[in-house]
Amino acid sequence: MFDLTVVGGGMVGASIAAYMAQQGWQVALVEAQRPEPYEASQPADLRVSAISQRSQQWLEQSGAWQAVAAMRLCPYRRLQAFERPEHSVEFSAASIEQSELGHIVENRVLQLACWQQFPESLQLFCPARVTALHQDADSAQLTLDNGNLLRSRLVIAADGARSTLRQLAGIGTRGWRYAQGCLVAHVRTEQPQQDVTWQQFTETGPKAFLPLPGQQGSLVWYHSVPKVQQLAALSPAALSQAIMAAFPAQLGTIEVQRATWFPLQRLHALSYYQQRLVLVGDAAHAIHPMAGQGVNLGFADGALLCQLLQQGGVAALQQPQALLKRYQQQRQPQNWLMMSSMDALYHGFGSRWPLVRQLRQLGLMLAGRSSLLKNLVTRYATG
Ligand SMILES: Cc1cc2nc3c(=O)[nH]c(=O)nc-3n(C[C@H](O)[C@H](O)[C@H](O)COP(=O)(O)OP(=O)(O)OC[C@H]3O[C@@H](n4cnc5c(N)ncnc54)[C@H](O)[C@@H]3O)c2cc1C
Repeated sequence: MFDLTVVGGGMVGASIAAYMAQQGWQVALVEAQRPEPYEASQPADLRVSAISQRSQQWLEQSGAWQAVAAMRLCPYRRLQAFERPEHSVEFSAASIEQSELGHIVENRVLQLACWQQFPESLQLFCPARVTALHQDADSAQLTLDNGNLLRSRLVIAADGARSTLRQLAGIGTRGWRYAQGCLVAHVRTEQPQQDVTWQQFTETGPKAFLPLPGQQGSLVWYHSVPKVQQLAALSPAALSQAIMAAFPAQLGTIEVQRATWFPLQRLHALSYYQQRLVLVGDAAHAIHPMAGQGVNLGFADGALLCQLLQQGGVAALQQPQALLKRYQQQRQPQNWLMMSSMDALYHGFGSRWPLVRQLRQLGLMLAGRSSLLKNLVTRYATG
């Protein structure tokens, strides 16, 4: 019998599995698809994430962050937000005496870095999918599509927003699809390596730049779903022109390498646990990505769950309800607050109502003028 079975070896699940197996727990990991190995000559992945300092600290504990640094990442030291570029509010690492605010990392590089930390004791089931879940007083049993049966004290579902485990357990969710989608484009930039990430808020949705190593960047263009689909269908040359016409001039000349689009949803599990099953990461909550918080919330889930498990020891898994309740009590309201803040931004900046427009301009102006407020926001952004 395993102490823990983690289902889903994405960024969040793999970070938990690596850390707990290193701490001497009997851990199994079930993952549907092995991540493609890294080579320095590979172009950057389209899926990238802004990783906060707090997430970095969590990943350092297993050695995963050091492995990311040995592959590739891009620090950002300044963060700018504006409606009009001439009225930009800048948050800087220097203002809070830090060397950077965070790093932009490719999702696959982060996932691989966690996989590289798996000790020999970790039992990997990959490629494999869970098809059934049965729970009783002593254990949870998982049936895999290759016929394997796994018995564990606790199952950690890290299998993403469409979590099979959450559905098998019958845990409901609350949420909706946003009318917006987002186009993500990997671009070559005329400008040399940058240390700033910026976001322009417009009534149709934000436009954002995230720096990547060298003369590269990741652009995110939020708009109505039909418009985003239409943009994604353009040739790289036509999309480059469309981007340069719509984005602020500070982007400079760019050349689109690849692009795709994503639908956006808000989803929150009504409960984070059930008997011997606990949800983490996107399996528990999916959030509008405009502030780049999704995986950072997932890492915060993982860090807290691991801390509680370490405090309680394997013995706490005899009756895990108290531990899982504490986990839910701490994480559910924090994740809800972040989701709701994203919705306030989504509706606030999407509104054409004059009063709302004036309020948001006042908000940006106040944020720009008050050094105390700016420092608070900057410290919050670093996690
Ligand atoms: C456009 C966009 C931009 C984003 N930008 C950011 C950002 O800048 N910063 C940020 O923090 N977040 C960002 N996010 C959110 C972030 O990508 C997610 O929060 C993150 O990927 C969630 O990680 P996860 O490990 O919980 O789930 P996932 O990444 O979805 O991983 C789930 C894993 O489970 C596996 N799996 C699924 N089902 C099964 C099964 N039945 N059996 C076995 N394995 C299974 C999958 O193969 C996968 O490996 C963004 C999201 C989008 C859409």
